[in-house]
Amino acid sequence: MRLINLFLGILFVSSTLQAGPLQVVTSTMDLANIAASIGKDRVSVVSLTSGAQDLHQVDARPSMVARVHQADIVVRIGMDLDSWMDSIMDAAKNPRARLGKPGYVDASLHIKKLQIPQGKIDGSMGDIHIFGNPHYWLDPENGKVIAKSILDALIAISPQEKAFFVHNYTAYVQELDGKIINWKSALKPYKGMKILTFHRGWPYFAERFGFSVLGEIEPKPGIPPSPGHLLSLIAQVKRDRIQFIIAAPYDNLRACEKVAKDAGIPLLVLATSAGGMTGVVNYTDIFDYSVKQITTKVSL
Ligand SMILES: [Zn+2]
Repeated sequence: MRLINLFLGILFVSSTLQAGPLQVVTSTMDLANIAASIGKDRVSVVSLTSGAQDLHQVDARPSMVARVHQADIVVRIGMDLDSWMDSIMDAAKNPRARLGKPGYVDASLHIKKLQIPQGKIDGSMGDIHIFGNPHYWLDPENGKVIAKSILDALIAISPQEKAFFVHNYTAYVQELDGKIINWKSALKPYKGMKILTFHRGWPYFAERFGFSVLGEIEPKPGIPPSPGHLLSLIAQVKRDRIQFIIAAPYDNLRACEKVAKDAGIPLLVLATSAGGMTGVVNYTDIFDYSVKQITTKVSL
């Protein structure tokens, strides 16, 4: 924190409001990709994360504070996924993109959230997902909700560009709608399949495409699996006829491979963000890639 304060001392002296494209800073690559699709050449978009990292495990750095300080709009996933953004926002002291200002976008605001904890929350439940499941962008329908929140912020900050932003938003949503029809159609034969995932990161994806998540290889969010837990999962795969496993590239793939190999089902390593794997560049590539993996590796 001392480093961040020192850095800001220098930054505040040198910073001035800039003309030119709106500076948009996002916590994830997917938000960046969607913002760039709507803002096009009227925005300059930077994501604070790469797309290949576990978003629950991001370290705040001074360079991120500098980015947020200069931003006209900050877009975050919200809930507790990017809680590391809180210290960055505090240190950045950006009056344009503070909570409650038009330049602050919590993209989870209008999302229909899944797995909101009922009753008392304590450490035995794992230390993440305390506001419900935050992996909502893995339902492409929610990509449209995110796009609308970003559109509203762009219009609020730059109302003279409204027609341009609305045109791009409408085109983006239409394109996404077309792709959703194709993805659903490709996955229709797999509908109803039972699956395991490493992290509890796929309920929105599963609900959209009709999969049933029967368990996690990581027993609770953020808690690593024990050998006994892996053995019980292998037995469960056979008993419940679970058909495949989904994990992200940064998950404990050794544990996933053990369950997959011993139970005789495929392990699909899928990108969770744009930029998360080779060939997954844009937000919609997540679903193109996932659909291709499922339809080529899972037998009907
Ligand atoms: Zn999570």
